[in-house]
Amino acid sequence: MNKETIEKVRCLIIGSGPAGYTAAIYASRANLAPVLYEGIQPGGQLTTTTEIDNFPGYVKGTTGNGMMDDLRNQALRFGTEVRRGVVTKVDLSKRPFKVVVDEEKTLEAEAIIISTGATAKYLGLPDETKYAGQGVSACATCDGFFYRKKKVAVVGGGDTACEEATYLAGLASHVYLIVRKSFLRASKVMQAKVMKTENITVLFEHNTLGLYGENGVEGVHLIKRKGEVDEEKVDIAVDGFFLAIGHTPNTSIFKPWVETDKVGYIKTKGHTTQTNVEGVFAAGDVADPHYRQAITAAGSGCKAAIDVERFLAE
Ligand code: NDP
Repeated sequence: MNKETIEKVRCLIIGSGPAGYTAAIYASRANLAPVLYEGIQPGGQLTTTTEIDNFPGYVKGTTGNGMMDDLRNQALRFGTEVRRGVVTKVDLSKRPFKVVVDEEKTLEAEAIIISTGATAKYLGLPDETKYAGQGVSACATCDGFFYRKKKVAVVGGGDTACEEATYLAGLASHVYLIVRKSFLRASKVMQAKVMKTENITVLFEHNTLGLYGENGVEGVHLIKRKGEVDEEKVDIAVDGFFLAIGHTPNTSIFKPWVETDKVGYIKTKGHTTQTNVEGVFAAGDVADPHYRQAITAAGSGCKAAIDVERFLAE
């Protein structure tokens, strides 16, 4: 039998968004020798954002990647061990908790901070899979570049959709924003930005039926005012189809032990980051269906590290 020595970690942080890195900064300064696994998308969702103008301290704004580099470097400065790797399995039935990384390395952790964030949702249409990598994307900042001077569509009516639409409008010749309701859910500032951008057309009360195209996306089949007497089928010719309809929290591997709400967001106790499993804490979007901002994620990362420090001291 393979006599692998199991590494023991005091404070394990899973995920590398603002919550994970802030937890790492606080935990390393509290001598908890944290080990942080970056996960599938090092730096988290913000690395797919363009400008960040609402994180306090960046007077002139910054970029998603720039901010995540800053947070990572700050965590490294205080001795956090930041590692590449994805936590693929956990056993939280008793302490120390067993954690498997990349399906091969096993660790034992005294305390865990889950800061795995959330992942972009898709509509669930077969065409999204059919055209994956051929015109369908859930990240305008990652893929917008390929649509310079082309036509694109963005689905959604929230802040993400408006942000992606305005970003794409700077690259593409035209952007259609496909909104299922008769209004945008986004903040007033973002709505105004969309409305005053000349090459964005907002298609209110439109739903996507499917995509078409020979070699990649060439257009979208839409239905206008679905279920109404004046319901109408419309096609729009586009080269890119971007989804911006919200996110799903990344909690599947924790679910057998950690209590979540019906969407999958981890439930925490009162004002703390403590989950129902003693010694397991949750911070950032993975436990936040309400705010989902970089600054609130960072704040909860700070709280999680303080909660871990108190827990381990007991
Ligand atoms: P939201 O949940 O706010 O919005 C999702 C949008 O997608 C809604 O308009 C929703 O429509 C639509 N939608 C959902 N499912 C479907 C579907 N099946 N078909 C068509 N449309 C659908 O998600 P966001 O990602 O936009 O924002 C999440 C949070 O992050 C919010 O709190 C937001 O304020 C915040 N945020 C802040 C930013 C900033 O401050 N710079 C930038 C980006 C996000 P409906 O309205 O009909 O439900």
